[in-house]
Amino acid sequence: MGEVVCIEETMATSTIAFAEACTIKKEDIKHKIGEIREKRKAKCKEAKKCKLVCYNDLPDYLKDNEFIWGYYRSEWPMKETLLSIFSIHNETLNVWTHLIGFFIFLCLTIFTAVVIPRIGGSISSKIQQNFHELVEQNKTEAQVGLIASILSPSHDDRLKEIIQMQMQPQCSWPLTGATEIPTTCRSSHVDNNTNACVQIHETAQTKPITRWPLFAFLSGAMFCLLISSICHLISCHSEQTAYISLRLDYTGISALIVTSFYPLVYYSFLCDPFYRHLYISFITVFGFATVLASLVPVFQTPAFRHVRAALFSCMGVSGLVPVLHKLIWFHYRPEVVTSTVFEAFMGLFYGLGVTIYATRVPERWFPGRFDLVGHSHQLFHLLVITGAYTHYLAGLEYLKWRDLQQCW
Ligand SMILES: [Zn+2]
Repeated sequence: MGEVVCIEETMATSTIAFAEACTIKKEDIKHKIGEIREKRKAKCKEAKKCKLVCYNDLPDYLKDNEFIWGYYRSEWPMKETLLSIFSIHNETLNVWTHLIGFFIFLCLTIFTAVVIPRIGGSISSKIQQNFHELVEQNKTEAQVGLIASILSPSHDDRLKEIIQMQMQPQCSWPLTGATEIPTTCRSSHVDNNTNACVQIHETAQTKPITRWPLFAFLSGAMFCLLISSICHLISCHSEQTAYISLRLDYTGISALIVTSFYPLVYYSFLCDPFYRHLYISFITVFGFATVLASLVPVFQTPAFRHVRAALFSCMGVSGLVPVLHKLIWFHYRPEVVTSTVFEAFMGLFYGLGVTIYATRVPERWFPGRFDLVGHSHQLFHLLVITGAYTHYLAGLEYLKWRDLQQCW
């Protein structure tokens, strides 16, 4: 009997334990369901938050262009903000135009680092080879001419003629370029070590000029384009993000303008350290001053749009001084003329870009019509990339020039 009671008691205890366990599980399940509901609610809130809104629904710090009416992201969580690079809103093309521009300039940098020095080297060695071949050829001509003249009755006249021919200032370097050297030089100049041909010989063996000013410009362009792209992507996240990223954007623009001066000034005034240092110091200080000015909060308000455009324009326009200086000094060099033409086009593209940026055309004329595609900031981005590429082409002209003509 005692055993039966014990078994019953044990069963009763187990049932209570099972019931208690079940109760706990039910509570757990309730708790979990509650958590899931909370998460769903949060997700719903997020989803509502990640809707595109109209200009009037924006907080003040995101209100920049009243002619773009819709498709704004406003205070999205960072993850959604970053992922919005793959969705359609009024900043999508602003992000992608400069991101693609960044990759274009990355390719140009690799191209300049890998391909251009080889081309420069091959040009130098080709000139050198041609030069030596012509020296050899002219040596023979000169020796034959000398022997012929000695054997001929008019010995004195012929000798005079050969000497005159060989003593003429055939080497017009450096003014007309190294490619003309082989057609005008004579072996006697090399043999006699006259100044002209010593210069030519040095030039034929000169190493390509340093590339750092061009790489500085390419780095400035890549920095500007990448920062701009990131700024357009994340500035809608919060007021703090907008504040920091817009300042970084102005720093990028300043970096592009400042480094654009470096190839122009360095290669043009390669042999004149005074002007080289003067212009480079001036634009670098100007750039830093602009970055400092952009730290003042009022600088980025819509009211200061024209002041911003004017300040960056002044930086760019100040490049006219070294360009004109270069043109006056070296107008006879074909590379200088070509680089100036590229720089004129660059000025045209940047000028047009800044004008469109400041006037907010075309959306001003048709508000709400260009919200997604074709508004002024997208056009401004395209013109910046085109202008920077034109400046890169000018940079290649400088390399062509200074690979052939350096200082001695
Ligand atoms: Zn932009």
